[in-house]
Amino acid sequence: MAFACPQFSTRLLEALRQSRHIAVFTGAGISAESGITTFRTAQTGLWHHLDPQQICSIAGLRNQPDVVWGLMALRRAEMLQAQPNAAHIAIAKLATKVNSLSLITQNDDDLHERAGSSSVIHLHGEMMRPRCFGCGRDYSGPFHAPDIVADGSPIEPPRCQHCNGRIRPGPVLFGENLTKRVWEAAAQAMRGCDLCLIVGTSGKVNPAASLPLLAKRNGAVLVQVNLEPNDFSPIVDFELPGAAGVVLPALIEAAFGV
Ligand code: NAD
Repeated sequence: MAFACPQFSTRLLEALRQSRHIAVFTGAGISAESGITTFRTAQTGLWHHLDPQQICSIAGLRNQPDVVWGLMALRRAEMLQAQPNAAHIAIAKLATKVNSLSLITQNDDDLHERAGSSSVIHLHGEMMRPRCFGCGRDYSGPFHAPDIVADGSPIEPPRCQHCNGRIRPGPVLFGENLTKRVWEAAAQAMRGCDLCLIVGTSGKVNPAASLPLLAKRNGAVLVQVNLEPNDFSPIVDFELPGAAGVVLPALIEAAFGV
């Protein structure tokens, strides 16, 4: 799909410049231009071939830990190869131009951090931070033996160096609750913002998808960047259709000249 060079209304640019606290809410779409597969993007979505409810779930991990670990190892390899794109970089720049910015992502990749963003709230965990099922400690050892290729085939999860427990992936799995502390930080940022920028999310995964509603209820201006309309479209104040890597840098340059 091709989009013309984006034009932004004066009202939108003023809202950005005058906001006291911006909450940015990102999903898999922001990393799509870095080559990381989204779950639901038509034709290319990872889950056209897999059932996440079955596989990347807490039950899946119990029943077939090697299958889950093999898939996680493949996604991790994909993430390690990926580089932050212009959209990740634009958000990091935006944070330096405004009074206060909270970045809440549903992504388990580390591209926001590698683009220069700090204190990123990872609602759904972090691929690069696996931990032990037994003692709960972070695991910093290798994902698999060096002679194994992470191609999605089953791989036996490693064991904890401290208690020999099985290591679990860093992302939150289907059937698990979000970490309370992380959820509360995200909800607080949404309630306290005066502008919420929603980027590259389908809004289909709950409770994450309810976060922009908290901002809306408190009177924040909602701005969405996405390739296509979605469930947020009827409630946003500004819909900016297009690829995040094109729209966001243009928006931030138009508002702040960077
Ligand atoms: P999703 O796959 O459900 O939806 C992706 C959204 O991004 C769609 O609305 C699509 O139109 C939009 N999109 C795709 N490319 C875009 C682009 N270049 N610019 C702007 N928009 C674009 O993703 P979701 O809403 O984040 O929910 C899926 C869940 O999958 C999340 O919980 C997330 O944790 C997880 N996930 C994460 C990653 C990652 O870490 N990069 C990748 C896949 C899935």
